[in-house]
Amino acid sequence: MRRGAAGAALFALAGMAAATPAWAYCRARACDDLNPELSCEYDLFDCPISESRPLLFWPSSCVTVAIHENGSRRLGIGFDEVDSATNRAFGTWLSADCGGDHPGFRVENFGPVACGEPEYNLTGNANIVLFKDKEWFSDPERTIAITLLQFDTNTGEIFDADIIVNEDNLPPGRAGSGDDFALVDVLTHEVGHFLGLSHSREPDSILWPAYAERRAGEPMLNADDEAGICSVFPPGPDTEDAVCAPRHGFAGECGGRPVRLSGGCALVPRSDSRGGLVLLVAFAAFGMLRRRGR
Ligand SMILES: [Zn+2]
Repeated sequence: MRRGAAGAALFALAGMAAATPAWAYCRARACDDLNPELSCEYDLFDCPISESRPLLFWPSSCVTVAIHENGSRRLGIGFDEVDSATNRAFGTWLSADCGGDHPGFRVENFGPVACGEPEYNLTGNANIVLFKDKEWFSDPERTIAITLLQFDTNTGEIFDADIIVNEDNLPPGRAGSGDDFALVDVLTHEVGHFLGLSHSREPDSILWPAYAERRAGEPMLNADDEAGICSVFPPGPDTEDAVCAPRHGFAGECGGRPVRLSGGCALVPRSDSRGGLVLLVAFAAFGMLRRRGR
């Protein structure tokens, strides 16, 4: 299921699959590209091909999320709307078909939080969906949203995840949907990253790295997205007893330790067929912990 070669040939590989399934989904790995010893090589689709680096994973079959209480005042998107869109985005991944079963995780939504910054603190955390204007982004014209993951670079264990939406680039909603913005579509893409998937090589995947307008009624996940999430969270565990708390406990207030924003973000531009505009959904993963015991 993993590829050893990079580039356009990967499409051909996926198409030729006969005896062995060749999925196009990509699981994120514990790459720290600021550290030469822990950096990864990537294919053209931003997929780490350095199999020596461990896969990212959540330590519990219960993951938690929270919403910045302000939503986006500038766009007139309130907490309730972001909350609902976030629940729908997670629900889409949760309802994936894993051969008649569903992915083995659940989500606990902690609701509104005061902290509107992506942080990882030793005094308590929340995995937050929040908005920033384009001034915040390193590639402000092309980035629609970004997911920041904090993880143990030794093991791949995810500690914290925050989704930041660029309120200057949020695309309009699907035609006929009545939605002003494609918030659910964008969040569904980012939640895929939140859960441990990187970009897909299939243009109709929700994890295709460029934003693609979807038609009303079009399914959000394709078979490859479903295979990806079923790989990350295989069906089976009893999630009812799973621990549901951010690492170091839940904290809705900021704690003062912002995540780093540099490196690790590779983008695959694709022209928007309608007007030549390039809109991208970006993913970045950052290892923060220093290696221990070596
Ligand atoms: Zn992405």
